[in-house]
Amino acid sequence: MQKITNIIETIDAIAAKTPDKVVYDSEGTTYTYGELKKRSNQVAAFLMQHVKSKGPVVVYGGQEFEMLVAFLGCSKAGHAYIPIETHTPDERLEMILDVAQPIYILYADDWDIETDIPKQRIQSIDNDEALEWPGLAMNETYYIIFTSGTTGIPKGVQISHQNLLSFVNWENQDFHINENSRFLSQAPFSFDLSVMSLYPALTSGGVLVPLTKEVINDFQKLFSILPTLNLNVWVSTPSFMDICLMEPTFDAEHLPSLSHFLFCGEELTSQTAKKLRERFPDIYLYNTYGPTETTVAISQINITNEVIDQYHRLPIGNIKEDTQVLIMDEERVLPQGQSGEIVIVGPSVSCGYLHNPEKTKEAFFEYDGKRAYRTGDKGHIDPKGCLFYEGRIDFQIKFHGYRMELEDIDCHLNKVSYVQQSAVVPQYDANHKVQKLVAYIVPTSHPFEKDYQLTKAIKQELAENVMDYMIPQKYIYVDRLPLTPNGKIDRKGLINEVNDSCI
Ligand code: AMP
Repeated sequence: MQKITNIIETIDAIAAKTPDKVVYDSEGTTYTYGELKKRSNQVAAFLMQHVKSKGPVVVYGGQEFEMLVAFLGCSKAGHAYIPIETHTPDERLEMILDVAQPIYILYADDWDIETDIPKQRIQSIDNDEALEWPGLAMNETYYIIFTSGTTGIPKGVQISHQNLLSFVNWENQDFHINENSRFLSQAPFSFDLSVMSLYPALTSGGVLVPLTKEVINDFQKLFSILPTLNLNVWVSTPSFMDICLMEPTFDAEHLPSLSHFLFCGEELTSQTAKKLRERFPDIYLYNTYGPTETTVAISQINITNEVIDQYHRLPIGNIKEDTQVLIMDEERVLPQGQSGEIVIVGPSVSCGYLHNPEKTKEAFFEYDGKRAYRTGDKGHIDPKGCLFYEGRIDFQIKFHGYRMELEDIDCHLNKVSYVQQSAVVPQYDANHKVQKLVAYIVPTSHPFEKDYQLTKAIKQELAENVMDYMIPQKYIYVDRLPLTPNGKIDRKGLINEVNDSCI
C-alpha cells in the first residue's frame, strides 16, 4: 500500500473515487464512503458555524456509524476529538470534562449529564451548506484518549496527525494486510486499540465491521453472528480471544475469510497463540506492543509455530522502522541485551498529557532531538533487534526478599495442565509487605472432586518450573477473570479485592 500523507484527504479521495463502496457494515446495515464524506462534511460545517474557538470536542457513543461521522467531522473542522464510550460512569465522565475542558459535545447515544458545554446529537446535524474546511496540520492534535492515571484522575493522551500517520502507514505496510479488507471493530473507541481497526481500514478502502456490546456480552449471539461477518482482519485483546476460544467452532473452517489476527494491549500467552495456531494454521498471527502514549503500537511479530517452540515467553517483536527503543535504568541507556525500562523514541510519541505538565514531565523527554516516552514496562532487545516484554515495573514485587514479576508467575501457571487462565496478586500485611501470593485461576476440566486436590496438583506441576518462593499460597477458582473496560485482565481490581478485607 502507498504511504499516505494526510488521513482525511486519503479517506475523502477514496470517497470521491468509489462513493458507493461500503465503509461500515453493522450486521447488514451498511454505509458507504460517499455517505461518510457527505455526513462528515455536514458535521464539519456545523462545527465551523457554531464553534468559534479552537479546542477539543467530545464525541460520545458506542459503535454507531455516526461516531465515525463525528470523528471525521471534527478533524475536517480543525478540532481534536475525545472519544468517550457510552456507559462511562458519570464520575469518570465528569473528571474527563474537568481535565479536558472541551468546547463542544457531539453525541450519538443519549447524553444525560448536566453541563454548560454546548452539545448536539450527531444524527440531527443535517445542514447542507458546503463550507471549505481547514483540516488538521501535522503537529495539531488529532484525538485525545483518556487512560487511567495512578492518582485516580484520568490522563488525556494527545495524539497528533503526525503521530497517527506514523502508526497508520506502518500498519498498512508491514502487516501484509490487503486493501479493501473487512476489519473487526470490537474495542470501544475510547480505547486506542480501536485505532488499530479504524484508520488502517478507512485509509485502505476497507470496511469497519462493528460488534456491539450487546452481542459481545451474549455468547450465543456472538458465535452465531461471527461466521456471518466475513471478517478478514481481527483486532482484539488476547483476553477477548480467550473468551472466543471457549467456543469449539471458532476455527478456520467456520471463519474461512479470516487472514489476520492483530493482538495488542496485554501479554499474548503462548497457550493462547498455540490454540490459535492449531485452529488457524495459515493465518497471520501478530503480537503487537505499545502504549497509548506512542500511538497504539510500535512493534510486531507474526507468531509462527517456530516462535512458539523457541520462546517460553513470546516476543513482542520488531520495532517499526521510524522508531527507536532504548532500554534504560533510571538515568542511562543500558548495553544491548540487558533488561531495563522500555523507552520509546520517535514520530509516534505523543507530545504529552492534556493540561497536565507535571505528569507529562515525569513520563516524556527529548532524546537526540526526538520525543521519548518512558513506558513503565520492563524488557530487553535480543541481538537480532527483537523486543521482549518482561512485565510491568509496577507489578514487580518483593516477597521474602525475592524479586519477582506477577506476570512471570502467571506465565508459568498458565502452562500447568489444569490451568486455563490465571492472575496472581499479592496480599499485603499492615506494613505493605507481601504476606502471601494469591492465584485466581480459571481451571480446565479436571478429575478432582475437591478444590484442595486440584490445588495440590497445580502446585506440584508448577514446582517443576518455578522456584519455591514463586508458588502462590492461596488459590481461588473462578469461571472467568474480571476484565477492565478495555478488555484486559483487571489485576488491579483483584489486588483490591484480596487486600480490602485485610487492610
Ligand atoms: P494501553 O495504553 O492501554 O494500550 O496499555 C499499554 C500497556 O499494555 C503497555 O505499556 C504494556 O504494559 C501492555 N501491553 C501492550 N501490548 C502488550 C503486549 N503485546 N505484551 C505485553 N504487554 C503489552
